[in-house]
Amino acid sequence: MQYQIQTLPIWDAYKTQDGCPLCAIFNDREKRIVGQYLAENVMDPDFRSASNSIGFCPDHIRQMYAGQNKLGLALQLETRAAQMAKLINKAPVDKKSAKKTAAMIEDHRGCVICNALAEPMERYYMTIAAMYANESEFPELFREAHHCLKHTAKLYDAAAYAGKSVKEYLSDLTAGIQRDLKRTESEMRAFADCFDFRNSGTKPDAQAIPRAIGVLITDKL
Ligand SMILES: [Zn+2]
Ligand SMILES: [Zn+2]
Repeated sequence: MQYQIQTLPIWDAYKTQDGCPLCAIFNDREKRIVGQYLAENVMDPDFRSASNSIGFCPDHIRQMYAGQNKLGLALQLETRAAQMAKLINKAPVDKKSAKKTAAMIEDHRGCVICNALAEPMERYYMTIAAMYANESEFPELFREAHHCLKHTAKLYDAAAYAGKSVKEYLSDLTAGIQRDLKRTESEMRAFADCFDFRNSGTKPDAQAIPRAIGVLITDKL
């Protein structure tokens, strides 16, 4: 049953996405979790103690700030500030204890939303590799998919779960990223060539750079 629950969003993403299907799954879950941190999690003691202790990364605090619950956000930032003030409560006495204080602060700088996303995403990578081996229609979708660089790495990492099909899985994954990197390279070349005086009049493709960034870095600009 767990496998079934996991495979549904994967089928959906691989059937409907132009871009990276795993980025689509990630974005979907992320949106839901950011929403929870602006709604039901605001007053939940467990969630609050986690966010007080490690906070939010720049990307996720920007998403929360762009959301509709400034009061909820302020309450979380208030108790986060209080907790950190308690931890940084006296001046370090020497260089060594300054290093310790620095390390202690770093230990408390993370992101509850990134953490909440990490575990389910790992399960998706494993499930995808297992689906490649077990679902007869999946390898074709997998071959056609445009996995971004980050998710290509995650899928390499999960290769063991492709079991008996591991060789084909790795060969398809590699062919896919090769195809998309080559396309990116030639699209960026074509874009740059538009600025060459000999090609005056050729209009650059406005979507080419966002597409390249989508493959190489992020699909959220
Ligand atoms: Zn991706
Ligand atoms: Zn984060």
